[in-house]
Amino acid sequence: MCLFCKIANKEIPAKIAAEDDDTIAFHDINPVAPTHVLVIPKKHITSLNDATEADQALLGKLIAVAQRVAAQEGRALEGFRTVINTGPNAGQSVFHIHVHVLGGRPMAWPPG
Ligand code: AMP
Ligand code: ZN
Repeated sequence: MCLFCKIANKEIPAKIAAEDDDTIAFHDINPVAPTHVLVIPKKHITSLNDATEADQALLGKLIAVAQRVAAQEGRALEGFRTVINTGPNAGQSVFHIHVHVLGGRPMAWPPG
């Protein structure tokens, strides 16, 4: 079972920010911003490359949860960034799809 599946199953501890039947959001262990939360589906999907048409509603739900988490963390008004890293060029390091929710400081554009 992959690392994030273990977090979803509560086999590995994480600081949980939100949870429902299909998703779980938890604070990144190595935050790169004052707010850094990861939103994942409980179902294992390796990356955005591996999501199928049947996953469309679930992908939408990840974004909806990201919105809720950003608001809950007080980042709605000032703004925040949502990121999905996919594959080598994006630097994906955990192969269970996740949406980064980053906030609490200005974000550079273009990203590095
Ligand atoms: P990515 O590089 O987009 O695949 O992002 C993976 C993220 O997972 C990184 O920001 C890591 O800091 C984070 N991470 C790795 N292990 C854990 C863990 N056990 N708990 C919380 N976050 C983690
Ligand atoms: Zn997994």
